Amino acid sequence: MTFPVVGMVGGGQLARMTHEAGIPLGIRFRILSDTPQDSAAQVVADVTVGDYRDLAVLRAFAAGCDVLTFDHEHVPTEHLRALEADGVVVRPGPAALLYAQDKAAMRVRLAEIGAPCPRNRIVAGPAEVTAFAESVGGYPVVLKTARGGYDGKGVWIVRSEAEAAEPFRAEVPVLAEEKVDFVRELAANVVRSPHGQAVAYPVVESVQVDGVCDTVIAPAPELAEELSARAQQLALTIARELDVVGHLAVELFETRGADGTPGILVNELAMRPHNSGHWTMDGAVTSQFANHLRAVLDLPLGDPRPRARWTVMANVLGGDYPDMYPAYLHCMARDPGLKIHMYGKDVKPGRKVGHVNTYGDDLAQVRERARHAADYLRGTIDE
Ligand code: ADP
Repeated sequence: MTFPVVGMVGGGQLARMTHEAGIPLGIRFRILSDTPQDSAAQVVADVTVGDYRDLAVLRAFAAGCDVLTFDHEHVPTEHLRALEADGVVVRPGPAALLYAQDKAAMRVRLAEIGAPCPRNRIVAGPAEVTAFAESVGGYPVVLKTARGGYDGKGVWIVRSEAEAAEPFRAEVPVLAEEKVDFVRELAANVVRSPHGQAVAYPVVESVQVDGVCDTVIAPAPELAEELSARAQQLALTIARELDVVGHLAVELFETRGADGTPGILVNELAMRPHNSGHWTMDGAVTSQFANHLRAVLDLPLGDPRPRARWTVMANVLGGDYPDMYPAYLHCMARDPGLKIHMYGKDVKPGRKVGHVNTYGDDLAQVRERARHAADYLRGTIDE
């Protein structure tokens, strides 16, 4: 038996970290990267540089792969269907991936399976936004382009009909949602394999700053046990009903009813390793990347349980200094337990260039250590 070849479409940091997880298993890993400089292209030996929107490129890339998977959800659905028709093993398959690509399709499908979502409607123009706003108690409402958004791009909070014009310029379907008055954002991450085995990671809290994930705390502090179990169950149900193979991140809003009852609503789905799961690299028995690989290869899944009472992940964003390496000296000396994961990307202000993980028994300390390292690497603090 020769070791299988996993082909991942995309050369970003998720591909880089998935590659890293496959090394100890001897899995052969190849990527389809936009450029030779992309994060994963710098470290993976078998790189094809090409355009994932070109079916001929995808076909040539997939020809030598035992299974095809993704570090982003932008490959056109019709191309994935064509690959499947060719006999390529695509995991997750296009029928599932559609719901991570298209927020409007996702809302319809989640309603069918009874998953709780913010009230929503497809809208054709500003007047329809106002009609929708009136049906949910008035402005503000949230508008989202159905496809192509990420890190808060493609999401607008609009307070009036005049403000509602902007999202329609892109000429893609626009989804209106009630603006949820959430307590915090959570993520329920699960991994499912083709033969139906599934594992659930602890539900985490994800703290967003300016629409970008800033910190993840595992497990979510003071989350009621019942709500945590409900969130995990919901994510497992979505994975099964949508026939997801691989890692599924279910981004959630935690809400409080008028009587104080806690609840959850689904924000969106990602069918690939996800920023809310980066803590698992150091904080769980099996990382999301290792489990994603096991799932797409239909191997038994690994233990998702945490290795420490608390794990905190903080994203490292680019600051004003192009070279972060000198900062390692101080960070490593200050905190020997610190885990640094850098992606090999050029430092640009605000760009995600890496993350750090810390773990331990005292949440306040674990948080402070992660925050300090992320800020020091960015250059916003100097001691
Ligand atoms: P992206 O595709 O950029 O990740 P999301 O749909 O996750 O877009 O939205 C980005 C952020 O906008 C969310 O993390 C949340 O803070 C906010 N947001 C999205 N939808 C709503 C909503 N219906 N109500 C309130 N805030 C929302």
